[in-house]
Amino acid sequence: MHVGHVCPVCGRSDRTTRLSAHWRALSAGQRAGAAHLARPALHDERWSEPLGLLTLGCALLVSEAWLGFVGVAGGGVWLVSLRDKVAQAARLRADWHRKQFCRRCHHAFLP
Ligand SMILES: [Zn+2]
Repeated sequence: MHVGHVCPVCGRSDRTTRLSAHWRALSAGQRAGAAHLARPALHDERWSEPLGLLTLGCALLVSEAWLGFVGVAGGGVWLVSLRDKVAQAARLRADWHRKQFCRRCHHAFLP
């Protein structure tokens, strides 16, 4: 037996379903009209560029110390900000998978 989560808008649980299941059941046209329900995209993060800068910085540390330091610091900051962005995207996606959807009021919510 399916026991739905109570929708915070209408206070009923008879028409709530998993948002992911609801989304999968939509046609392409319906999806276009309900973009706010879409699964958050994973950005195509490019790790090679900051890693390259970091490597270049390390190599330069030997010959051009100050330039190498700038490269290492820049690459490090870049990597940390990229890591934060990836972690945030993963969090949004995890939330999306936990979300429920009320077909009565078209409201998506976290149970
Ligand atoms: Zn509702």
